[in-house]
Amino acid sequence: MAKNVYQFVDVERIDPPKKPIAARRSAFAEIYQPMSDSQVQGQADRCLDCGNPYCEWKCPVHNFIPQWLKLANEGRIFEAAELSSKTNTLPEVCGRVCPQDRLCEGACTLNDDFGAVTIGSIEKYITDTAFKQGWRPDMSGVVDTGKKVAVIGAGPAGLGCADILVRNGVKPVVFDKYAKIGGLLTFGIPAFKLEKEVMDLRHDIFTEMGIEFVLNTEVGKDIAFEQLLNEYDAVFLGMGTYKYMKGGFANESASGVYEALPYLIANTNRQIGLEQNADDFIDMQGKSVVVLGGGDTAMDCVRTAVRQGAKRVICAYRRDEQNMPGSKREVQNAREEGVEFMFNLQPSDIAIDENGNACGVHMVKTELGPADAAGRRSPQAVEGSEHILEADAVIIAFGFQPSPSDWFADYGVILDEKGRVRAPRNGKFAYQTSNPKIFAGGDMVRGSDLVVTAIDEGRKAADGILDYLNV
Ligand code: FAD
Ligand code: SF4
Repeated sequence: MAKNVYQFVDVERIDPPKKPIAARRSAFAEIYQPMSDSQVQGQADRCLDCGNPYCEWKCPVHNFIPQWLKLANEGRIFEAAELSSKTNTLPEVCGRVCPQDRLCEGACTLNDDFGAVTIGSIEKYITDTAFKQGWRPDMSGVVDTGKKVAVIGAGPAGLGCADILVRNGVKPVVFDKYAKIGGLLTFGIPAFKLEKEVMDLRHDIFTEMGIEFVLNTEVGKDIAFEQLLNEYDAVFLGMGTYKYMKGGFANESASGVYEALPYLIANTNRQIGLEQNADDFIDMQGKSVVVLGGGDTAMDCVRTAVRQGAKRVICAYRRDEQNMPGSKREVQNAREEGVEFMFNLQPSDIAIDENGNACGVHMVKTELGPADAAGRRSPQAVEGSEHILEADAVIIAFGFQPSPSDWFADYGVILDEKGRVRAPRNGKFAYQTSNPKIFAGGDMVRGSDLVVTAIDEGRKAADGILDYLNV
């Protein structure tokens, strides 16, 4: 029977069901329940197969979306997973954490009038289901080249690089200072967006594929970079960006003011039993918490504070909701979980009590001024609107700046004016740094961005390494 191309009219878009709010507010567990097989098949069938798949172009790794939607619709899950793994190193992760509204689903032809195909949820379903049923990436055609590459950083960039190398017969040895793989996937992004078992399973699968991990090992401290440079045929740097952006306020170092990432990491360490020092844990139970910032990190902080039992959690952002940089889906999830949003508020100082502890934030209301050259309207202070937003704890989530290691210069690795490693995508060998044997990708090259863009850069850098090694 011919396919009903108007399926999208009869079958509405549905998202995976969410757990009840009360359960969400107290658990560090993913909030979405799985879609049933028949739901996935019905949703996948909504794809128009529109000839010029904008979704695929907009996806940074250019997934073969219409093709694996068709396979999912036909219940051919192993084939769908194999195809999905050809373009994406971590499809089950991207399905969970990509801001699909800005990427694939935002570009879906059905998006405006009928509701985009639920691409992210189906991508997650395919690989989760295939793994459960015993599927593993097909490595049968791999021929060993005898070459080996040291990968520094087991985040999405390093894993993307290692995935392509091992599939091309080059042995990747991945070094990471943490005890688990994943980088920010494990230690930054909380379990309510991405459960930690997802990366544990990946660790096993990557190891089966032939990737070697050397964890709890900081390069430059526990092992010399020079040793890696001498012992390996090439080196890939995927070390992320970790210098937090300060607000530059008075009293920013007062007790009760916290940086976002150490707050999230300490919470995760406690959740997964890796806590080394109980003093690192920052407990928001019973507190009024104000989080400054409007990106994904800020959303993760507010929702973590809710789960720790905070009395009141406020996200204060200096622009309006439309201009928030984070995923709209996560803002909605935070709101549902009881987070209050205050827009057009510009912090000026941390307010402190007589003991020097933070007791709030001095705020001024803002309104958006004229658009700049990039079309973005900057907030301007409204005269006479100064006030204190009271809080027991303030978390600063303004994003991250590059944090290049001191030793880069010793090996001729040049940085750009912002401190990012210079490794052009379109150079002679993709993502080669100014030292021919050293490649780099992910946040340390493009600045703090997304999981999927880091994966993409790691994979493209691996192509550059393969060309460089002439294998
Ligand atoms: P990282 O993930 O930072 O990995 C770098 C790795 O290098 C780390 O494991 C680190 O331990 C290791 N390393 C560094 N130096 C050394 C050394 N000297 N020796 C050994 N190992 C070293 N993106 C999304 O797409 N969706 C989201 O929902 C999202 N939420 C986020 C929430 C938070 C709180 C944060 C901070 C970021 C979020 N992001 C999100 C962004 C995303 O996580 C990053 O863009 C991505 O992880 C960058 O990947 P990377 O591999 O470049 O770096
Ligand atoms: Fe969409 Fe991200 Fe998957 Fe690409 S990787 S299809 S952008 S969810």
